Amino acid sequence: MEKMCFSFEEMWEKVMACDRKYDGLFYTAVKTTKIYCRPSCRSRKPKKSNVEFYSTMAEAEAKGFRACKRCQPETEYSPDEELARNVMDYLSANYRESISLQDIADHIGMSPSYLERVFKQETSETPRSCLERIRIDKAAHLLKQSNLSNLDVCFETGFQSPSNFYKIFRKLKAHSPHEFRKLNEPVSS
Ligand SMILES: [Zn+2]
Repeated sequence: MEKMCFSFEEMWEKVMACDRKYDGLFYTAVKTTKIYCRPSCRSRKPKKSNVEFYSTMAEAEAKGFRACKRCQPETEYSPDEELARNVMDYLSANYRESISLQDIADHIGMSPSYLERVFKQETSETPRSCLERIRIDKAAHLLKQSNLSNLDVCFETGFQSPSNFYKIFRKLKAHSPHEFRKLNEPVSS
């Protein structure tokens, strides 16, 4: 299987949220129906235990899954959608690194200003804010699922300074990392 940028839990969260921004980055395959979907599919949600994730359609099809008639994952993307997907893919795979708009532009092979304009038109956010969101989602996940300190989470998710990490975390999650972790502590039975 190709390298996945997301854990099962993260992908499941995107599926439950019908998050269109992740379309094309992975596919949801349902073992009981033998159908595969985009993360954003609006069909009834499968049971979590019946789901497998694939990073490409070819893998899902090789395992005997067929494309969903409703979300039509095999439909081609427009060139602008494709560009936005490629940027998302790059950011999701490299969020731990320090990434500039120029780095993304070099990777995609377009000018920074053109890239930023098309990305914003397709996703309503800039590559910078998208990268921040990916990092904060990863940080939230680590705060919930690991014992890493706040500082470790900060550097693990690609932030260069703790103050910037705390500021952006609070902006996107409305809590400090510490508060967020306390709020999401597993309920002890
Ligand atoms: Zn579907």
